[in-house]
Amino acid sequence: MLLDAFEVVEGSPASREQVERCHAPGYLDRLESLEVPTMLDPDTVASETSYEAALLAAGCALAAVDRGGFALVRPPGHHALPGRAMGFCLVDNVAVAARYAQAELELGRVAILDWDVHHGNGTQDIFWDDPSVLFVSLHQWPFYPGTGGPGEENETTVNVPLPAGSGDEDYLLAFDERVAPAVRAFEPELLLVSAGFDAHVDDPLAGMHVTAGGFRELARRSAALAPRVAAVLEGGYDPRTLPVLVGAALEGFRE
Ligand SMILES: [Zn+2]
Repeated sequence: MLLDAFEVVEGSPASREQVERCHAPGYLDRLESLEVPTMLDPDTVASETSYEAALLAAGCALAAVDRGGFALVRPPGHHALPGRAMGFCLVDNVAVAARYAQAELELGRVAILDWDVHHGNGTQDIFWDDPSVLFVSLHQWPFYPGTGGPGEENETTVNVPLPAGSGDEDYLLAFDERVAPAVRAFEPELLLVSAGFDAHVDDPLAGMHVTAGGFRELARRSAALAPRVAAVLEGGYDPRTLPVLVGAALEGFRE
């Protein structure tokens, strides 16, 4: 349904080497060897086709970097940890894309903005000790996965926890006061957006009140923060509204 709404280009899978920049070989071996549906954590089921799906999703994130595009992928990625799956996520697509930009496109400083309603704990974990990647997250807190609370930060990790019930004005104020200054000061050559849409008012999994217009404005302001911008889909669990919200963000990125 989502892919029917846009002109899309099919991606190709990321290589093992590209994914190993963010994930442990032993974990990827386990994912590759699954033969029956298996619960990898209480929320995350994977099966014999999941490894291929994860490589395809990561590969689309790389293509989005190349084209300045939006990777419309599942499974999402931002909860995936170096050594294990978590919260529907198998491979951290946006993290693999950031490492790709640095290793293969010779981009030095990469910023990742995560506006999915959940904290991007996997992405934070991968880059916590890496001063060349800025991670900035807007998310509902306290909420799943529990990380990203006040004070959890370092020089290149900025968490902006927001209370349940926050809407467009709250998000845009947080963007202007916290996100934009942090990203501008970092002077990234590339901004990657972990674009989840589960902060939408109708989303069944969370309690925020962002509208389509809010996502459009978040995207418009994000696009102004770096010379190159690409986006990767994270959450968003109302299949009827997701195409509208992705469309609104695409408009914002292009304005
Ligand atoms: Zn989410």
